[in-house]
Amino acid sequence: MSDHLMKTYARLPVAFVRGEGAWLYDEDGTRYLDAISGIAVCSLGHADPVLADALCDQARTLIHTANLGHIRLQERLAERLCTITGMDRAFITNTGAEAIETVLKLARRFGFERGIEQPKILVVEGAFHGRTLGAISASAPGKLQHGFAPLVDGFVRVPYGDADAARAALAGDPSIVAMLLEPIQGEGGVKRPPDGYLTALRRACDEHRALLMVDEIQTGLCRTGRWYAHQHEPDCRPDVLASAKALGNGVPVAACLARGAAAEVLTPGSHGTTYGGNPLACRAALTVLDRMEALDLNARAETMGARLVERLRERLAGCERVVEIRGRGLMIGVELADPAGDVRDHALKQHVLINVTHERVIRLLPPLIIDADQARTIADAVADGVLGR
Ligand SMILES: *Cc1c(COP(=O)(O)O)cnc(C)c1O
Repeated sequence: MSDHLMKTYARLPVAFVRGEGAWLYDEDGTRYLDAISGIAVCSLGHADPVLADALCDQARTLIHTANLGHIRLQERLAERLCTITGMDRAFITNTGAEAIETVLKLARRFGFERGIEQPKILVVEGAFHGRTLGAISASAPGKLQHGFAPLVDGFVRVPYGDADAARAALAGDPSIVAMLLEPIQGEGGVKRPPDGYLTALRRACDEHRALLMVDEIQTGLCRTGRWYAHQHEPDCRPDVLASAKALGNGVPVAACLARGAAAEVLTPGSHGTTYGGNPLACRAALTVLDRMEALDLNARAETMGARLVERLRERLAGCERVVEIRGRGLMIGVELADPAGDVRDHALKQHVLINVTHERVIRLLPPLIIDADQARTIADAVADGVLGR
């Protein structure tokens, strides 16, 4: 235990020093099955050899120049992400919160250019968008915001999953220039909105000339069985998209993508970053995208997710402690009727690493490369914990 780290985390009593695929090893060499991937980051698993080789090669070639000259790897990454999403332009950042800050600034600038002096952004209840002041202001009130007033102004909040409420808010306030939301809420408890929600929001935003902006930081990059989770629904291509987490498999790299008029509002001098989009980070992201495609991780997330959920349902059928088992692909939540901390501790004793969010929701975000045996081991560790075995 360090006396010199700020006490921002209640940490598990374990220190990992090495990884391989879906396995993590602690200081004593004990092996753990990772069912959280560093919070949806290490989707390729740990120590992926192709990524490791690419990083070594890039480190020996060029790590950083700042955005002073052209960065060919950054151009290639932007093009690749735009092809995957149907967007026009990218701004490459280091973290999810920075990508969200870019999203928020872009929306304000978009409103400003339309003559709206105090543009507002519509957000939803239960949201999590990161830890910067702008991001916590856009997120759900509560412990994220507690003690950090004055927050950033200009957010209007409506219930999640309720397209009519969003439409009414947009219709009632012409200063709302954009709506920001997660296609599935991660930190908010793996909450999945009703089918058709995003398509309805797309239409509502079109009617009111507002931008539809999706935070796909957790849901993106094959996690739910699509490159990005909004792609499950037809006709809901967003105007702005934030991506991070799995993009570098642990190397910090993130992106704000935009299309149409939204892609043109940030101009020279209006926004920037020192590290963002450096050659090392972009090489990592390009390699990750190649690996995801080569390993067909969308298909794998769907099949392994289905197996994991099937096993959970089988083992937990009739269990009164379970409120709901839900999710999409390998983004899975098991909501309990009471706090789930004991389940996490129980799984850790069985050497399976899981996570609890929103107090009562067991969250599973295993590497997308898991096999059927590993999916079963994860489900059994959760079920044993829930059933108190
Ligand atoms: C993790 C996360 C963020 C913040 O990303 P950081 O890299 O931690 O800044 C924002 N939005 C969502 C949905 C996330 O899951």
